[in-house]
Amino acid sequence: MIETLTIIIAIAFIITGIFIHPILIKKRRRHYKQLPFPILWNAVIENNLPIYYCLSKGDRQRLQGHIQVFLAEKQFIGCNGLLVTEEMKITIAAVACLLLLNERGEYFLRLRTIFIYPRTYFVNEIAKTGSYIVEEKRVARLGESWTNDQLVLSWEQVQYDTRNWQDGRNIVLHEFAHQLDQEDGEAEGVPILPRKLDYPIWMQVMTAAYQQLCHDVQRGRKTVIDSYGTTNPAEFFAVATETFFEKPHQLQKQHSALYKLLQSYYQLDPVQWV
Ligand SMILES: [Zn+2]
Repeated sequence: MIETLTIIIAIAFIITGIFIHPILIKKRRRHYKQLPFPILWNAVIENNLPIYYCLSKGDRQRLQGHIQVFLAEKQFIGCNGLLVTEEMKITIAAVACLLLLNERGEYFLRLRTIFIYPRTYFVNEIAKTGSYIVEEKRVARLGESWTNDQLVLSWEQVQYDTRNWQDGRNIVLHEFAHQLDQEDGEAEGVPILPRKLDYPIWMQVMTAAYQQLCHDVQRGRKTVIDSYGTTNPAEFFAVATETFFEKPHQLQKQHSALYKLLQSYYQLDPVQWV
């Protein structure tokens, strides 16, 4: 009798987890999206994010809704004595949520905490330099994204990048693109795609564009996508995302298939914004 009861309770928990929990999350998010967007928050975005002026009224409203959800669900922690301000949280949320603007998916599924350093920070990196030789180096960082539930940013760099939109570099777009890539637990330049048949097309277009970039960089040619994208396919996806949002015209002109692929993935057309 007790065994049967235990099984029934376990099944009830599973059913709640599978069916009820997502409904509750959706309901909670709908509630956050409907909250009035504070005037002060809007002023911060207008001041720090020039691209905001290029968005349509509908896009702005959708972005504001996403920011409300993002701020309710993610935790921010200051590092090296940094006191996290509303301005920091709103600016980071606004840029990150551009990636999700057209209801593109989850709110960075794995991410829970964003650590913010005041400026460039340093970490100890262990590198294998030979079969038995391991070297420890002190390395400067502007940001990083982890597969567990964390992301790190330098506030100084966030400010510089958001105010210098159109230079093709943006640490927030870069690290949050890594988060999208890492949602399946792997950082390999392939995020979760809507349909199975999307994967071969993704691989084909991304591989061709990645090889093209490697080829051009090797020959010393000027490229619209930053040469850091040659590091590996995961970095290529993050750097291509930065270019897609910040230099859409040039990317569309020089890598039309890649632009089309990212347009379809993000369900956005940044060419229309500029
Ligand atoms: Zn990266």
